[in-house]
Amino acid sequence: MVILLKQNPDQQQFDNLLTWLRGLGLTVHVNEGDKQTILGLVGNTSAVDIDLIEQLDIVEDVKRLTEPFKDVNRKFHPSDSVIRISDSVSVGGGSFHLIAGPCSVESEEQICGIAMQVKASGATLLRGGAFKPRTSPYAFQGLHADGIRLLLEAKQISGLPIVTEIMDLSQLNLFEDVDVIQVGARNMQNFTLLRELGKIRKPILLKRGLANTIQELLMSAEYIAAGGNENIILCERGVRTFETATRNTLDLSAIPVIKKLSHLPVIIDPSHATGVSSLVKPMALAAAAAGADGLIIEVHNDPQHALCDGAQSLTPEAFDDAAKAIRAILPYAQKYENGIPV
Ligand code: PEP
Ligand code: MN
Repeated sequence: MVILLKQNPDQQQFDNLLTWLRGLGLTVHVNEGDKQTILGLVGNTSAVDIDLIEQLDIVEDVKRLTEPFKDVNRKFHPSDSVIRISDSVSVGGGSFHLIAGPCSVESEEQICGIAMQVKASGATLLRGGAFKPRTSPYAFQGLHADGIRLLLEAKQISGLPIVTEIMDLSQLNLFEDVDVIQVGARNMQNFTLLRELGKIRKPILLKRGLANTIQELLMSAEYIAAGGNENIILCERGVRTFETATRNTLDLSAIPVIKKLSHLPVIIDPSHATGVSSLVKPMALAAAAAGADGLIIEVHNDPQHALCDGAQSLTPEAFDDAAKAIRAILPYAQKYENGIPV
């Protein structure tokens, strides 16, 4: 349920309303916007008498939410959320970010070299997997703690904040100096993991599952936000369809759909969405044009010999070319105002 207050509500009446709602066992999120204050109620609102609230002097309107997600709902929080990652990097609210790096961290030389190259091309965050969810148990599984250590070294050298995937809660202690924790497609509905990530305040990059709806993605984000961590960036990375020409099918409409439903930023992963390096630039351009808040792109210095996802990885030169083209179209990209295309 959301309660829209009139402008400049009487403080005493406002405090009384909050006390009464909290007394009903509800959690009240107060969102003080430029023009209007909105109260978002979470909990069992069935006992709340809408007619009674509507009659209060300070109340303009009361609405029951039809969506099952609350904290991440745009109706709770009309303006875009801006996720602060470092002093110079914040995602959402009209900025655009390129996250780039290899699928997996392979060596010091590899990750540090790629970090400097993607930075020179305009990337603002470095990606790299240390814990890799592989289909085959015999495939390279990542360097684990050593991979995180090498990422931190690359962060130190390049100054880029780092994004890396957690696969299991037992790994969390290794993520202390990681800037953004990625929850991969396969873990999107690992609710135990999501709940724990709700208890910390580090930004989470939550990827859409291989066969999950947008509503399910938002419900997973709700698990994190309900614990108090609203620092969430959503990522569309393609879903499974009957098509075999590409690894997955990129659902670009997820950008405007999510923007309407939620205040969280949404980025696109054209690498996992297509699985083919020649398709990455066209899909990256399309995502930027549709108004994504950023892109996460796999870049490898030697894609042919990459230990993971070489076929979809761009060389640093191809990334530089794509980054230039993306920057050129950004001024013409779709803009959104409170989630609505304008
Ligand atoms: C990745 O980003 O390396 C990855 C494994 O992605 P996804 O979870 O989207 O498959
Ligand atoms: Mn990958």
